[in-house]
Amino acid sequence: MMPDSPSDISRLAPRWLLAAAVLVVVGFSAICGSVLLSMRQGDERLANQMLSNLAASIDADIGRNIELYDLSLRNVAINVPAPEVAAASKPLRQLILFDHAATARHFGALQVMDIAGNVTVDSARLEPAPLNFVDEEFFKVHQRDPLFGLFISKPMLHDGAYGLVLSRRIEARDGSFLGVVSGFIRYSYFHEMMARLQLEPEDVITVIRQDGVLVMRAPFDMDVVGRDMSRTPAVQQALASLAGAYVGQSAIDGVQRLFVWREGSHPLIVIVGRATATIYGQWQQQALQIAGAMGVLGLIACAGLLLLAREMRKRALAENRMARFAMTDSLTGLSNRRHFDTVIEAEWQRALRVQMPLALLMVDADHFKIYNDVFGHQAGDLALSGIAGSLARHAQRASDCAARYGGEEFALILPGLSLAEAIELGERIRIEISASQDGGVGSMTVSIGACSMVPSARAAPEDLIRDADIALYTAKARGRNQTFPSRASQQPLAA
Ligand code: GH3
Ligand code: MG
Ligand code: MG
Repeated sequence: MMPDSPSDISRLAPRWLLAAAVLVVVGFSAICGSVLLSMRQGDERLANQMLSNLAASIDADIGRNIELYDLSLRNVAINVPAPEVAAASKPLRQLILFDHAATARHFGALQVMDIAGNVTVDSARLEPAPLNFVDEEFFKVHQRDPLFGLFISKPMLHDGAYGLVLSRRIEARDGSFLGVVSGFIRYSYFHEMMARLQLEPEDVITVIRQDGVLVMRAPFDMDVVGRDMSRTPAVQQALASLAGAYVGQSAIDGVQRLFVWREGSHPLIVIVGRATATIYGQWQQQALQIAGAMGVLGLIACAGLLLLAREMRKRALAENRMARFAMTDSLTGLSNRRHFDTVIEAEWQRALRVQMPLALLMVDADHFKIYNDVFGHQAGDLALSGIAGSLARHAQRASDCAARYGGEEFALILPGLSLAEAIELGERIRIEISASQDGGVGSMTVSIGACSMVPSARAAPEDLIRDADIALYTAKARGRNQTFPSRASQQPLAA
C-alpha cells in the first residue's frame, strides 16, 4: 500500500524531458544536415559552372586557331590543282598558296605532298626539302577516304618539333587523289595557352580526339599523350554526349575528380577535371566544424538533461519518502491513524461499489498499563513492535492495511473478508502473539473485536469502526485474550 518508488508523473516527467531533448537534438541535426547538404550542392554547382566555363574558353581558343589554320589548308587544297598555279613561278606560287597563317607562332610550315607522298611545295622555303610522308597515317587517311576533311594526327614528331599535324586532301575536279596538304601545330601552343590559366593544384585539362586518343594533357605527361583513352569512363561519357559532367577516378593518376566537357565545333574535345577534395575541401572543413559543434552541444544538452532527470527522480523519491513518513507510525512502522482513516474511507467506497464485504479487526493489548509498570516503558515499546510485526505478517494482500490506531490499540482493514474469515485471521494473530515473546520481556495477550459488513449508502466507515470497537470491548469484558465478533456484522443496516 505504501509508495516506495517515484509516482507515475515523476517517473514520466524525466522520460518526456529526455524524449523532448532527443527530438530537439535530432531536429537541429536534421536542419544542420540539410543546410550542409545544400552547401555541398552549391559548391558542386559552382565548380561545375567554373569548369564548364573553363572548358568552353579553352575549347574556343583551340577551335579558333584550328579553324584559322584549316582555312589556310583549304586555300592550298583548292588552289594547288589549278593549272595557273602550277604554271606560276615558284615565288608567285608561294604568294598565291600561303597566307600569313603559316607564319604564326606555334604553327609550322604548310607542306604540299604529291600523289606519291613527296613534298613538292613548302611554305617555309622555295625549294622544299626532300621529304616523303607516304607512310604517315595522315597521308594514308586522305589517300583512302575522299570525304575525311580535316584530319588531326596523333601527337607526333614532325619537322623537328612535337605537335599535331593537321591535313586535308588535295583532289582533282573529278575527285581523284592528287596529294595532301599538311600543317603543324606545335605543342608549345598548348603549353603556352594552359600556362595562362589559373588552375588548382589537382586540376587536369585533357584534350582528346573524337576517337578518344589523348592529344594533350595539363599537367603535361609525355607517357599518356597519344594514348587511346576511349575505354575510360569519363572519355566514354564525353564522347557519348555533347556536354556533361562525370564524377569518377582518373584513369591516369587515380585521383577522384569532377570532369566537365563542352563539345566544340572542331574535332577535339576538351575535358576539364577538378579533384573532389578541392571542390569539397572547404565544405568538408565547415561540415566537420558544424558537426563537431553540434555533437558537443548535443552532448552537453543530453548530459544536462540526464542530470536534471536524475535530480527530478531523486526529488520524487525524496517526496515519496516524505509522504511515506507522513503516513507511517514511527514506533511500529505500520500505517498511522491518518493513513488508516484514508484507507478505510477508500476501501469503504470500493466495497460499496462492488458490494463486497469489508472486515475490520480492532486489536488492543491486554493490561498494557501493568506491562509498562512491571517491565518499563521501553519494554512496552518493544512489545508494541512485536504486536505490529505479527499484524503486518498477517496483512499480506495488497489491499490489507495494518495500522496503529492509537496507544496500544491497532486496526487491521481486510477488504473482502467475511466475519468468519476475519475471526479466523484474528484468532491466528491472537494465538501467535500470546505464544511469542516477540520484542517484549513478558508474555503478552491481545483482545480483538471483529466486524465485517457489506457497505450501504446509508452507512459510513465510522459504523464499521464503532461496531468493531464494541466487539473489542466485549472481548475485554469477557475476560480478554480472545476474538469477539460484532453482533452487527453481516446484518444489513436498517434502511
Ligand atoms: P486493557 O486491558 O483494559 O486495555 O488495559 P490497559 O492497561 O491495556 O489499558 P489502558 O488504557 O488502561 O492503558 C493503556 C496503556 O498503554 C497506558 C499507556 O501508558 C500505554 N501506552 C500507550 N501508548 C504507549 C506507547 O507508545 N508505549 C508504551 N510503552 N506504552 C504506551
Ligand atoms: Mg489495553
Ligand atoms: Mg487501549
